[in-house]
Amino acid sequence: MRHRIAVVGGGPAGLTFARVLHRHGHPVTVLERDPSPDARPPGGTLDLHEGMGQLALGKAGLLAEFQALSRPEGQAMRILDTDGTVLRDWQPRPEDRANPEIDRGQLRDLLLGPLDVQWGRGVAEVVPGTGDGALVRFADGRQERFDLVVGADGAWSRVRPALSSVTPHYTGVTSVETSLDDVDTRHPGLARLIGDGSVAAYGVNRGLVAQRNSGGHVKVYAHFRARSDWHTNADRRPGLNPGLNLGLNPGPDAGLDLDDAEAVRSSLLALFDGWAAPLLDLLRHGTAFVPRPLYVLPAPHSWTHVPGVTLLGDAAHLMPPLGVGANLAMLEGAELAESVAAASGPGDLDEAVRAFEEQMWARAGKWAKITTAGLERLVSPDPAEAIALFDEVQPS
Ligand SMILES: Cc1cc2nc3c(=O)[nH]c(=O)nc-3n(C[C@H](O)[C@H](O)[C@H](O)COP(=O)(O)OP(=O)(O)OC[C@H]3O[C@@H](n4cnc5c(N)ncnc54)[C@H](O)[C@@H]3O)c2cc1C
Repeated sequence: MRHRIAVVGGGPAGLTFARVLHRHGHPVTVLERDPSPDARPPGGTLDLHEGMGQLALGKAGLLAEFQALSRPEGQAMRILDTDGTVLRDWQPRPEDRANPEIDRGQLRDLLLGPLDVQWGRGVAEVVPGTGDGALVRFADGRQERFDLVVGADGAWSRVRPALSSVTPHYTGVTSVETSLDDVDTRHPGLARLIGDGSVAAYGVNRGLVAQRNSGGHVKVYAHFRARSDWHTNADRRPGLNPGLNLGLNPGPDAGLDLDDAEAVRSSLLALFDGWAAPLLDLLRHGTAFVPRPLYVLPAPHSWTHVPGVTLLGDAAHLMPPLGVGANLAMLEGAELAESVAAASGPGDLDEAVRAFEEQMWARAGKWAKITTAGLERLVSPDPAEAIALFDEVQPS
């Protein structure tokens, strides 16, 4: 018996799930809110771990294509002191394939392949049936019933309320993203500083990270501890260090327009005042600035099993972005797809989903703890903690 399966969301979780089901010859409906694959910038680079993201790609039959596209040299990592002194300079060995980098856009296109995604199909809510699948209600008012609806719709999931009442909460850390283009020709000094992979520097309650993507594109992230409404009341008067005042000490000219790139740049330059010139150049030459307050779900997060609906990836376990979220999302997508493909009777499908959830909750709960502790140490009052964390996780 062929079950009617829908997955909500065409991110790493949803596309891996759909691609593995497709490989098993099982039809699947992919419902994605974005009107097209290129409707918004795909984001930065992802490192896919051997036992997680790469394992999932193997289950999708895409490992060789990933190896051809990915950048093993992108695993290189350099850590600087805020005065520009090199503290660590880790280079991968030529044969090292533990965590190669790939652009998100390339990964999306690799997973999309032959999949027939329904673009522009935003889901408003999912209503579980009484033992017979679930009803998907779309934003345009239409509705459709499936035997299983998989919520892979990210942090602000519209599927999650069918299973759980939790909502994401702010971690106390905000990341502002900017980018550099054609870095090798336009900013050769910065290109050398960043190298083939990433460069990072950590100060008191703040950090700067630059990551090379393909084609000379670089993503820069400025992380800092602040209230979630820091931009509405940051004190940006000259002579004050807004890093110490962010959100705590409202100034007379309160209010930073986040759409005003020059105002955000000045605010960040003031926050990182005193850091070495090449580090500040990462902000000086950045183009648009995109604030990303970091939210997480309570961990561990589980729910009372409901037949006909489940969650994957960030929708199930949003955690700090410390190199695990997409990897877990993909592995879960691949594992659930294999279980669903193997289930033939109606009871089998429900048992498969139940078993998958138990395994996902245990593994994701462990990673949520690790990444939450990691974020505390990376953006902390003691910058030495960030270096110590790097030394603990970096292969020797
Ligand atoms: C700055 C940053 C850097 C990161 N770096 C890494 C890294 O190096 N390695 C790593 O493993 N992880 C990293 N992560 C985490 C990673 O991005 C996420 O964990 C991962 O994208 C989760 O995948 P997902 O498919 O669950 O959700 P998402 O990627 O959020 O995809 C959800 C999809 O659902 C769609 N959608 C949303 N709502 C609806 C709706 N109502 N109806 C239909 N469709 C909907 C969205 O448009 C989207 O396509 C990083 C995160 C950030 C913020």
